[in-house]
Amino acid sequence: TQNRTFFVGGNFKMNGSKASIKAIIDNLNSADLPSNVEVVLAPPAPYLSLAVENVKAKTISIAAQNAFDKASGAYTGEISVESLKDLNVPWVILGHSERRTIFKETDQFIASKTKFALDSGVKVILCIGETLEEKKAGTTLDVCKRQLKAVSDVVSDWSNIVIAYEPVWAIGTGLAATAEDAQDIQHQIREYLKTTIGADQANAVRILYGGSANGKNVSQFKDKADVDGFLVGGASLKPEFVDIIKSRQ
Ligand code: PEP
Repeated sequence: TQNRTFFVGGNFKMNGSKASIKAIIDNLNSADLPSNVEVVLAPPAPYLSLAVENVKAKTISIAAQNAFDKASGAYTGEISVESLKDLNVPWVILGHSERRTIFKETDQFIASKTKFALDSGVKVILCIGETLEEKKAGTTLDVCKRQLKAVSDVVSDWSNIVIAYEPVWAIGTGLAATAEDAQDIQHQIREYLKTTIGADQANAVRILYGGSANGKNVSQFKDKADVDGFLVGGASLKPEFVDIIKSRQ
């Protein structure tokens, strides 16, 4: 059996202030967090430094919510992975559904950014998942495979990737996938990955569930073998985030 470290990410999206983000981090610093859970917080870019400077717990690190596929230059408004490294930010979220849908990021663009971040030494939380229309059309797995293939076409080493399976219809809606459905899809994702990146890497890669995960419903996922943690939006801003981090104890 695999020994994948449980992983909980908090995506603050475009929310928070100096005071509120410091308060969230202070709350986590003073919580008795398990030593065997990797926690990654993704504040808005303007607060990355503040987050890095305030985190005390050894098991917590920081992620950006996006980054570009160039190191520097005339790209007004974009975020460089070189800046992330300079700020001691080891992670970046790429391919979030809000980036895909609102900002029209393509599979290929996300794959290019993933490759660039990894080649530069920044680890990637790679988000995938189907929309409600795609779910209704029965194409959930096809969509996830297409999104993953764009990355596996250009990235061979997946050791610094964490996958977040986030059905778009579950994000911010209060309608989480059932633990059984998440396990079913995530198991099929892992089986598919065996055919593209090989069984060893597919067995080692962590696959998170994301979409309206909260302090109450995460316990339902406890015995699901292919759910290696959660990517959490709304609930990561609340004290119940601690309960999610502790949900596998
Ligand atoms: C997300 O944005 O990655 C997410 C899962 O959001 P929420 O938990 O609010 O559904």
